[in-house]
Amino acid sequence: MDFNLSPEQKAIQKLCREFAENEIAPRAQEMDRTGEFPYDIIKKMGELGLLGLPISKKYSGAGTDYLTYAIALEEISRADASIGITVSAHISLPCNALNHFGTEEQKQKWLVPMAQGKMLGAFGLTEPSAGSDAGATQTTAELRDAQWIINGSKCFITNAGTDISGLVIITAVTGKREDGRSEISNFIVPRGTKGYSQGPKYDKMGWRAADTRELIFSDCKIPKENLLGELGGGFRQFLQVLDAARISMAALSVGVAQACLDASLKYAKERVQFGRPISKFQAISFKLADMATEIELARLVYYKAAWLKDNKKPYAKEAAMAKLFASEISVKCANEAVQIHGGYGFMDDFDVSRYYRDVKVNTIGEGTSEVQRIVIARQLGC
Ligand SMILES: Cc1cc2nc3c(=O)[nH]c(=O)nc-3n(C[C@H](O)[C@H](O)[C@H](O)COP(=O)(O)OP(=O)(O)OC[C@H]3O[C@@H](n4cnc5c(N)ncnc54)[C@H](O)[C@@H]3O)c2cc1C
Repeated sequence: MDFNLSPEQKAIQKLCREFAENEIAPRAQEMDRTGEFPYDIIKKMGELGLLGLPISKKYSGAGTDYLTYAIALEEISRADASIGITVSAHISLPCNALNHFGTEEQKQKWLVPMAQGKMLGAFGLTEPSAGSDAGATQTTAELRDAQWIINGSKCFITNAGTDISGLVIITAVTGKREDGRSEISNFIVPRGTKGYSQGPKYDKMGWRAADTRELIFSDCKIPKENLLGELGGGFRQFLQVLDAARISMAALSVGVAQACLDASLKYAKERVQFGRPISKFQAISFKLADMATEIELARLVYYKAAWLKDNKKPYAKEAAMAKLFASEISVKCANEAVQIHGGYGFMDDFDVSRYYRDVKVNTIGEGTSEVQRIVIARQLGC
């Protein structure tokens, strides 16, 4: 077993770490305070090829493996989770969906500008009454005169309302199956289509600079050819997309957990109480030891899930395990990081205050911890 990263993986990790430290980290606190979307940073990341890392070169991506992409995401998220989720929600969801299920024409038209970073993509699955139960989608798509007419709404959607958002891929009900359940299909809805509108940005606890909105479809007409993948294949397709997205959510979680450890270790060595740095107290050093151990384990499990995917082996169970474990330890690490910082950790001048708010959603987005346990239990045969 070889735990060494390849020269390409190391080079991209270094590039992302330097970019994150120099361009993102100094701005993270301000972005969190204002909630402003960082267009200039996203533009630079696009120019560096970071918005299409695992997409094939044929479609203007960088053609890396999935592990390299996940490692890059860990580095970016270590500086700022809002940018991490912006990249992840763009690549792991709509780019991957187009890559796997799009026609050649759809890929040329949409995937190429997305992989070049000229356009951001969004993936709209969640609805007010269809969250964990994503198959309970109420949004409908009806084919009339060679056009799909879409009606319904989506909530909590990332990347749909920025000035550079180009499209959202949504699930919609296209009929009834023989077993009485809804037949679900996926559609590409370009931003600017009449009848498709986005609500204002939500006020959020964390990921404050990321763009999250409600989407409304009211007699929204899109061409027949904007169906993505086979008619009625939407449920299977989004489950497949979510499997891969869980690896990136795990990487994002590890990035923030690592930032919690970095900040806490530095602070614990500097902060003196009772005449000694607090790192000398076993109560504090054991917290740091536990954080380091859990981060290492979480990283190893997302590496393994990505490796399985890259080697075309089944990876759904490991991806769910990685997402479950990494997201939960990110919450734990952020909690301990604030504790180690004492009252200062409660102040927004300290990064750990932002980490604490940013990590909670890791256990909710792209399938809650409960849903990950359901996926894992099913894989075990329960
Ligand atoms: C900031 C943010 C960004 C997001 N971005 C996107 C996006 O880009 N695209 C998108 O489609 N969605 C997005 N989401 C939505 C996210 O995926 C959902 O919030 C998530 O899937 C949970 O759905 P819900 O919020 O409706 O909770 P619910 O499904 O209502 O769950 C509520 C609680 O019940 C539990 N629960 C539900 N069913 C079961 C069960 N069978 N067994 C045990 N417990 C259960 C859940 O685990 C949870 O604890 C985003 C959410 C947030 C907060």
